[in-house]
Amino acid sequence: MRRRKFLGRSIAGGVGLTAAPALMPSPPPQVAGRRPSDLPASVTPVAYANRSSGYNPFATPDYYTYTDDLIIERNRPGKPHRGKVLAAVQAHSDDIPLFAGGTVAKLIDEGYTGYLIRISNDEAAGRTLGYGVVQNETDCQEVAKALGCKKAFSFYYRNHRMDDCAEIEIRARLIFLFRVLQVDTLVAMDPYNHYDENPDHFVAARAAEAACWMAGGGKDYPEHYKAGLQPARLREKYYHSRSPQGHNLVNRVVDISSYIDHKVRGNVANKGKGPAGEAGQRLRRELARQGRKLSLLGDNDETANFQYVKHFLMDDWKLLGERFGLPYAEAFRYIGPQPNYQDNVRKYADQHAVRL
Ligand SMILES: [Zn+2]
Repeated sequence: MRRRKFLGRSIAGGVGLTAAPALMPSPPPQVAGRRPSDLPASVTPVAYANRSSGYNPFATPDYYTYTDDLIIERNRPGKPHRGKVLAAVQAHSDDIPLFAGGTVAKLIDEGYTGYLIRISNDEAAGRTLGYGVVQNETDCQEVAKALGCKKAFSFYYRNHRMDDCAEIEIRARLIFLFRVLQVDTLVAMDPYNHYDENPDHFVAARAAEAACWMAGGGKDYPEHYKAGLQPARLREKYYHSRSPQGHNLVNRVVDISSYIDHKVRGNVANKGKGPAGEAGQRLRRELARQGRKLSLLGDNDETANFQYVKHFLMDDWKLLGERFGLPYAEAFRYIGPQPNYQDNVRKYADQHAVRL
Protein backbone atom coordinates (compact mmCIF):
# COMPACT_ATOMS: atom_id res chain seq x y z
CA MET A 1 0.00 0.00 0.00
CA ARG A 2 1.40 3.37 -0.95
CA ARG A 3 0.34 6.79 0.25
CA ARG A 4 -0.37 9.27 -2.48
CA LYS A 5 1.19 12.69 -2.67
CA PHE A 6 -1.56 15.12 -3.51
CA LEU A 7 -0.87 18.33 -5.37
CA GLY A 8 -2.31 21.50 -3.90
CA ARG A 9 -1.53 25.13 -3.46
CA SER A 10 0.54 26.88 -0.85
CA ILE A 11 -0.42 29.58 1.59
CA ALA A 12 0.96 33.06 1.23
CA GLY A 13 0.97 35.58 4.06
CA GLY A 14 -0.62 38.99 4.24
CA VAL A 15 -3.98 40.53 4.82
CA GLY A 16 -7.11 40.24 2.72
CA LEU A 17 -7.47 38.07 -0.31
CA THR A 18 -4.40 36.03 -1.02
CA ALA A 19 -3.78 34.12 -4.19
CA ALA A 20 -2.18 30.80 -3.49
CA PRO A 21 0.56 30.68 -6.12
CA ALA A 22 2.84 27.75 -5.39
CA LEU A 23 2.49 24.06 -4.86
CA MET A 24 1.71 22.94 -1.34
CA PRO A 25 3.67 20.07 0.12
CA SER A 26 1.82 16.87 0.82
CA PRO A 27 -0.35 16.87 3.90
CA PRO A 28 1.47 15.44 6.90
CA PRO A 29 1.11 11.66 7.02
CA GLN A 30 -0.82 9.78 9.66
CA VAL A 31 -2.71 12.80 10.96
CA ALA A 32 -5.99 12.25 12.71
CA GLY A 33 -8.56 10.53 10.60
CA ARG A 34 -6.45 10.18 7.45
CA ARG A 35 -7.67 7.22 5.49
CA PRO A 36 -5.28 4.91 3.68
CA SER A 37 -5.24 4.80 -0.11
CA ASP A 38 -4.47 2.11 -2.65
CA LEU A 39 -4.75 4.57 -5.53
CA PRO A 40 -2.13 3.64 -8.14
CA ALA A 41 0.59 6.21 -8.84
CA SER A 42 -0.57 6.41 -12.48
CA VAL A 43 -3.98 7.73 -11.45
CA THR A 44 -4.35 11.40 -10.57
CA PRO A 45 -6.68 11.99 -7.64
CA VAL A 46 -9.50 14.42 -8.24
CA ALA A 47 -10.72 14.81 -4.67
CA TYR A 48 -9.13 15.24 -1.29
CA ALA A 49 -10.37 13.22 1.67
CA ASN A 50 -11.01 15.56 4.58
CA ARG A 51 -9.56 14.55 7.88
CA SER A 52 -12.10 13.96 10.61
CA SER A 53 -11.71 14.37 14.35
CA GLY A 54 -14.32 11.73 15.00
CA TYR A 55 -16.00 14.07 17.49
CA ASN A 56 -18.64 15.73 15.31
CA PRO A 57 -21.23 13.96 13.12
CA PHE A 58 -21.96 17.21 11.26
CA ALA A 59 -18.68 18.77 10.28
CA THR A 60 -16.64 18.92 7.06
CA PRO A 61 -17.78 16.57 4.30
CA ASP A 62 -15.89 13.49 3.22
CA TYR A 63 -14.26 15.09 0.17
CA TYR A 64 -13.32 18.44 -1.31
CA THR A 65 -12.13 19.15 -4.82
CA TYR A 66 -9.95 22.27 -4.86
CA THR A 67 -9.68 24.62 -7.83
CA ASP A 68 -6.35 25.87 -9.20
CA ASP A 69 -7.29 29.49 -8.48
CA LEU A 70 -8.16 28.88 -4.83
CA ILE A 71 -8.04 32.00 -2.66
CA ILE A 72 -7.46 32.21 1.08
CA GLU A 73 -9.64 34.97 2.48
CA ARG A 74 -8.02 36.46 5.56
CA ASN A 75 -9.06 39.19 7.99
CA ARG A 76 -9.52 42.53 6.30
CA PRO A 77 -8.66 45.64 8.32
CA GLY A 78 -11.16 48.43 8.83
CA LYS A 79 -14.71 47.97 7.63
CA PRO A 80 -14.31 47.22 3.91
CA HIS A 81 -17.88 45.90 3.64
CA ARG A 82 -19.54 48.89 5.29
CA GLY A 83 -22.83 49.60 3.53
CA LYS A 84 -23.18 46.07 2.16
CA VAL A 85 -25.82 43.53 3.18
CA LEU A 86 -25.53 39.76 3.43
CA ALA A 87 -28.28 37.16 3.70
CA ALA A 88 -27.34 33.87 5.34
CA VAL A 89 -29.99 31.44 4.11
CA GLN A 90 -30.36 28.07 5.84
CA ALA A 91 -32.84 25.24 5.58
CA HIS A 92 -32.42 24.47 9.30
CA SER A 93 -31.37 26.31 12.41
CA ASP A 94 -27.99 24.53 12.64
CA ASP A 95 -26.83 24.81 9.02
CA ILE A 96 -25.25 28.26 9.03
CA PRO A 97 -23.74 28.08 12.55
CA LEU A 98 -22.17 24.69 11.80
CA PHE A 99 -20.83 25.22 8.31
CA ALA A 100 -20.41 28.98 7.85
CA GLY A 101 -20.79 30.60 11.28
CA GLY A 102 -17.21 31.85 11.42
CA THR A 103 -17.40 33.40 7.97
CA VAL A 104 -20.75 35.11 8.63
CA ALA A 105 -19.37 36.58 11.88
CA LYS A 106 -16.20 37.71 10.07
CA LEU A 107 -18.04 39.40 7.21
CA ILE A 108 -20.37 41.20 9.64
CA ASP A 109 -17.40 42.33 11.74
CA GLU A 110 -15.86 43.70 8.55
CA GLY A 111 -18.86 45.92 7.92
CA TYR A 112 -21.71 43.86 6.47
CA THR A 113 -25.22 44.14 7.85
CA GLY A 114 -26.31 40.52 8.20
CA TYR A 115 -29.69 38.78 8.13
CA LEU A 116 -30.34 35.13 8.94
CA ILE A 117 -33.14 33.48 6.96
CA ARG A 118 -34.38 30.00 7.94
CA ILE A 119 -36.62 28.11 5.52
CA SER A 120 -37.98 25.22 7.63
CA ASN A 121 -39.76 25.07 11.01
CA ASP A 122 -37.30 22.45 12.34
CA GLU A 123 -40.16 20.46 13.88
CA ALA A 124 -38.22 17.20 13.58
CA ALA A 125 -35.66 18.30 16.17
CA GLY A 126 -37.18 18.60 19.62
CA ARG A 127 -38.78 16.72 22.51
CA THR A 128 -41.96 16.54 20.42
CA LEU A 129 -42.77 18.06 17.04
CA GLY A 130 -44.48 21.01 18.71
CA TYR A 131 -41.65 21.67 21.14
CA GLY A 132 -39.22 21.37 18.24
CA VAL A 133 -40.92 24.22 16.41
CA VAL A 134 -40.80 26.52 19.44
CA GLN A 135 -37.25 25.65 20.56
CA ASN A 136 -35.78 26.07 17.10
CA GLU A 137 -37.65 29.33 16.55
CA THR A 138 -36.00 30.71 19.69
CA ASP A 139 -32.65 29.20 18.75
CA CYS A 140 -32.70 30.86 15.33
CA GLN A 141 -33.05 34.26 16.98
CA GLU A 142 -30.21 33.51 19.41
CA VAL A 143 -27.93 32.16 16.68
CA ALA A 144 -28.48 35.38 14.72
CA LYS A 145 -27.46 37.45 17.75
CA ALA A 146 -24.39 35.29 18.44
CA LEU A 147 -23.14 35.75 14.88
CA GLY A 148 -23.89 39.49 14.85
CA CYS A 149 -26.91 39.45 12.52
CA LYS A 150 -29.36 42.34 12.71
CA LYS A 151 -32.47 40.19 12.36
CA ALA A 152 -33.64 36.61 11.81
CA PHE A 153 -36.49 35.49 9.57
CA SER A 154 -38.20 32.10 9.39
CA PHE A 155 -40.43 30.73 6.62
CA TYR A 156 -41.68 27.70 8.67
CA TYR A 157 -41.94 25.07 5.92
CA ARG A 158 -42.30 21.60 7.38
CA ASN A 159 -39.08 19.87 8.29
CA HIS A 160 -37.81 17.11 5.96
CA ARG A 161 -40.80 17.66 3.67
CA MET A 162 -39.53 20.59 1.65
CA ASP A 163 -39.41 18.51 -1.52
CA ASP A 164 -43.20 18.51 -1.25
CA CYS A 165 -43.26 22.32 -1.12
CA ALA A 166 -43.52 24.58 -4.13
CA GLU A 167 -39.94 25.65 -4.73
CA ILE A 168 -41.24 28.55 -6.75
CA GLU A 169 -43.01 29.90 -3.65
CA ILE A 170 -39.87 29.67 -1.51
CA ARG A 171 -37.96 31.41 -4.29
CA ALA A 172 -40.55 34.17 -4.53
CA ARG A 173 -40.40 34.80 -0.79
CA LEU A 174 -36.61 35.02 -0.95
CA ILE A 175 -36.77 37.41 -3.91
CA PHE A 176 -39.10 39.62 -1.87
CA LEU A 177 -36.75 39.63 1.13
CA PHE A 178 -33.66 40.17 -1.01
CA ARG A 179 -35.33 43.24 -2.52
CA VAL A 180 -36.65 44.57 0.80
CA LEU A 181 -33.28 44.13 2.50
CA GLN A 182 -31.26 45.13 -0.61
CA VAL A 183 -29.00 42.10 -0.24
CA ASP A 184 -25.56 42.18 -1.90
CA THR A 185 -24.16 38.82 -0.81
CA LEU A 186 -25.57 35.34 -0.19
CA VAL A 187 -24.18 32.74 2.22
CA ALA A 188 -26.01 29.44 1.74
CA MET A 189 -25.65 25.72 1.22
CA ASP A 190 -24.19 24.65 -2.10
CA PRO A 191 -27.10 23.78 -4.42
CA TYR A 192 -24.87 21.20 -6.08
CA ASN A 193 -24.19 19.34 -2.86
CA HIS A 194 -23.45 15.75 -3.83
CA TYR A 195 -24.71 12.82 -1.81
CA ASP A 196 -26.82 14.81 0.62
CA GLU A 197 -29.62 12.77 2.13
CA ASN A 198 -31.62 15.73 3.43
CA PRO A 199 -34.27 16.85 0.91
CA ASP A 200 -34.66 20.29 2.54
CA HIS A 201 -31.09 21.22 1.71
CA PHE A 202 -31.54 20.78 -2.03
CA VAL A 203 -34.79 22.70 -2.22
CA ALA A 204 -33.64 25.59 -0.04
CA ALA A 205 -30.32 25.91 -1.84
CA ARG A 206 -31.83 25.81 -5.31
CA ALA A 207 -34.46 28.39 -4.38
CA ALA A 208 -31.80 30.70 -2.92
CA GLU A 209 -29.55 30.42 -5.96
CA ALA A 210 -32.30 31.22 -8.43
CA ALA A 211 -33.61 34.03 -6.21
CA CYS A 212 -30.24 35.78 -6.42
CA TRP A 213 -30.53 36.12 -10.17
CA MET A 214 -34.22 36.88 -10.36
CA ALA A 215 -34.15 39.49 -7.56
CA GLY A 216 -32.25 41.75 -9.95
CA GLY A 217 -34.63 41.36 -12.86
CA GLY A 218 -37.09 44.01 -13.91
CA LYS A 219 -39.79 41.64 -15.15
CA ASP A 220 -40.09 39.14 -12.30
CA TYR A 221 -42.79 40.06 -9.78
CA PRO A 222 -43.30 43.60 -11.16
CA GLU A 223 -45.81 44.33 -8.40
CA HIS A 224 -42.82 44.62 -6.06
CA TYR A 225 -41.72 47.67 -8.03
CA LYS A 226 -45.23 49.12 -8.03
CA ALA A 227 -45.07 48.82 -4.25
CA GLY A 228 -41.81 50.79 -4.18
CA LEU A 229 -39.16 48.08 -3.93
CA GLN A 230 -35.94 48.20 -5.94
CA PRO A 231 -34.11 45.32 -7.67
CA ALA A 232 -31.51 43.55 -5.51
CA ARG A 233 -28.14 42.95 -7.18
CA LEU A 234 -26.51 39.98 -5.47
CA ARG A 235 -22.95 39.92 -6.77
CA GLU A 236 -21.26 37.56 -4.33
CA LYS A 237 -22.14 34.07 -3.13
CA TYR A 238 -20.45 31.87 -0.55
CA TYR A 239 -21.75 28.30 -0.96
CA HIS A 240 -20.88 26.00 1.92
CA SER A 241 -20.86 22.22 1.96
CA ARG A 242 -22.88 19.85 4.06
CA SER A 243 -21.48 16.93 5.99
CA PRO A 244 -20.92 14.16 6.44
CA GLN A 245 -21.14 12.36 3.13
CA GLY A 246 -20.62 15.26 0.82
CA HIS A 247 -18.20 16.03 -1.97
CA ASN A 248 -17.88 19.71 -2.76
CA LEU A 249 -15.97 22.03 -5.05
CA VAL A 250 -13.92 24.58 -3.10
CA ASN A 251 -12.27 27.72 -4.47
CA ARG A 252 -12.20 29.82 -1.30
CA VAL A 253 -10.90 29.01 2.15
CA VAL A 254 -11.82 31.56 4.80
CA ASP A 255 -9.54 32.05 7.79
CA ILE A 256 -12.00 32.07 10.69
CA SER A 257 -9.37 31.87 13.42
CA SER A 258 -10.33 35.27 14.89
CA TYR A 259 -14.00 34.29 14.85
CA ILE A 260 -13.90 30.75 16.18
CA ASP A 261 -15.45 31.85 19.48
CA HIS A 262 -18.32 33.51 17.56
CA LYS A 263 -18.86 30.22 15.76
CA VAL A 264 -18.79 28.36 19.07
CA ARG A 265 -21.36 30.73 20.60
CA GLY A 266 -23.55 30.40 17.51
CA ASN A 267 -23.59 26.63 17.96
CA VAL A 268 -24.12 26.78 21.72
CA ALA A 269 -27.15 28.97 21.00
CA ASN A 270 -28.57 26.17 18.86
CA LYS A 271 -30.10 24.03 21.58
CA GLY A 272 -32.91 22.19 19.77
CA LYS A 273 -30.92 20.85 16.85
CA GLY A 274 -27.44 19.71 15.96
CA PRO A 275 -24.62 18.31 18.07
CA ALA A 276 -23.88 21.42 20.18
CA GLY A 277 -26.34 23.35 22.35
CA GLU A 278 -26.28 22.06 25.90
CA ALA A 279 -24.28 18.88 25.23
CA GLY A 280 -21.47 20.16 27.47
CA GLN A 281 -23.63 20.57 30.53
CA ARG A 282 -25.26 17.18 29.94
CA LEU A 283 -21.85 15.48 29.86
CA ARG A 284 -20.68 17.44 32.91
CA ARG A 285 -23.77 16.38 34.90
CA GLU A 286 -23.50 12.76 33.73
CA LEU A 287 -19.89 12.58 34.91
CA ALA A 288 -20.82 14.26 38.19
CA ARG A 289 -23.46 11.58 38.82
CA GLN A 290 -20.67 9.04 38.42
CA GLY A 291 -18.45 11.01 40.80
CA ARG A 292 -16.18 12.18 38.00
CA LYS A 293 -15.34 15.42 36.18
CA LEU A 294 -13.50 16.66 33.11
CA SER A 295 -11.46 19.75 33.96
CA LEU A 296 -12.00 20.84 30.35
CA LEU A 297 -15.68 21.45 31.11
CA GLY A 298 -15.06 23.86 34.00
CA ASP A 299 -17.29 24.36 37.01
CA ASN A 300 -20.58 25.59 35.55
CA ASP A 301 -22.98 24.81 32.72
CA GLU A 302 -22.14 27.87 30.64
CA THR A 303 -18.44 27.04 30.62
CA ALA A 304 -19.19 23.37 29.96
CA ASN A 305 -21.32 24.18 26.89
CA PHE A 306 -18.75 26.57 25.42
CA GLN A 307 -15.78 24.30 26.07
CA TYR A 308 -17.53 21.19 24.79
CA VAL A 309 -18.30 22.87 21.47
CA LYS A 310 -14.90 24.49 21.11
CA HIS A 311 -12.83 21.46 22.03
CA PHE A 312 -14.85 18.66 20.45
CA LEU A 313 -17.07 20.02 17.70
CA MET A 314 -14.69 22.55 16.11
CA ASP A 315 -11.80 20.15 15.55
CA ASP A 316 -12.78 19.30 11.99
CA TRP A 317 -12.44 22.97 11.00
CA LYS A 318 -9.09 22.98 12.78
CA LEU A 319 -7.98 20.01 10.69
CA LEU A 320 -9.17 21.78 7.55
CA GLY A 321 -7.27 24.92 8.61
CA GLU A 322 -4.06 22.97 9.17
CA ARG A 323 -3.99 22.02 5.51
CA PHE A 324 -3.70 25.74 4.70
CA GLY A 325 -1.53 26.81 7.62
CA LEU A 326 -4.46 28.34 9.50
CA PRO A 327 -5.70 27.65 13.04
CA TYR A 328 -9.31 27.31 11.83
CA ALA A 329 -10.91 27.53 8.39
CA GLU A 330 -14.22 27.17 6.55
CA ALA A 331 -14.42 26.25 2.86
CA PHE A 332 -16.67 27.58 0.11
CA ARG A 333 -17.52 27.57 -3.54
CA TYR A 334 -17.32 31.34 -3.97
CA ILE A 335 -18.91 33.16 -6.88
CA GLY A 336 -17.81 36.78 -7.18
CA PRO A 337 -18.87 39.87 -9.10
CA GLN A 338 -19.01 39.37 -12.86
CA PRO A 339 -17.25 41.75 -15.26
CA ASN A 340 -19.35 44.58 -16.66
CA TYR A 341 -19.66 43.12 -20.15
CA GLN A 342 -21.55 46.05 -21.66
CA ASP A 343 -18.99 48.56 -20.38
CA ASN A 344 -16.18 46.42 -21.75
CA VAL A 345 -17.80 46.20 -25.19
CA ARG A 346 -18.43 49.97 -25.17
CA LYS A 347 -14.81 50.62 -24.17
CA TYR A 348 -13.60 48.44 -27.01
CA ALA A 349 -15.88 50.26 -29.45
CA ASP A 350 -14.64 53.69 -28.24
CA GLN A 351 -11.00 52.63 -28.69
CA HIS A 352 -11.32 50.94 -32.09
CA ALA A 353 -14.23 52.51 -33.96
CA VAL A 354 -13.23 54.39 -37.15
CA ARG A 355 -15.11 56.99 -39.19
CA LEU A 356 -17.53 55.74 -41.79
ZN1 LIG B 1 -29.74 21.15 7.66
